[in-house]
Amino acid sequence: MEEKDCIFCKIIRGEVPSQKLYEDDKVYAFRDINPVAPVHILIIPKKHIVGIQTLEEEDECLVGHMFTVAKKIAQQEGIAPDEDLNRGYRLVFNVGKDAGQTVFHLHLHLIGGRQMSWPPG
Ligand code: AMP
Repeated sequence: MEEKDCIFCKIIRGEVPSQKLYEDDKVYAFRDINPVAPVHILIIPKKHIVGIQTLEEEDECLVGHMFTVAKKIAQQEGIAPDEDLNRGYRLVFNVGKDAGQTVFHLHLHLIGGRQMSWPPG
């Protein structure tokens, strides 16, 4: 899909509304419109990347930054593990249709605020 038609590129450009939690020159974070848990946030790169399936070595720092931002937001949202490792959250990339990817702009799901189960569905 072209950047001009990408829903997440439109969110970054402000053409589609979002509940923004964080933004810097590389990434943008906002609440998922259809949350699967009390906290469900998406961290996306401003660069249009289809997904992990098309990730290039030059984007390794960018993906690392996405995780650091996710960690900080989890702390702000009060779901980060405490010193006894209670609480917690899940970080997920769905990669491809079989994995459940529906938006083809790289996004890291930050999901928490309830007890998780394993394996995921
Ligand atoms: P995935 O299924 O991994 O591709 O995740 C895409 C996520 O984007 C889903 O959880 C959707 O609920 C979410 N989503 C799609 N459109 C929007 C939107 N306009 N604002 C916020 N979240 C969205």
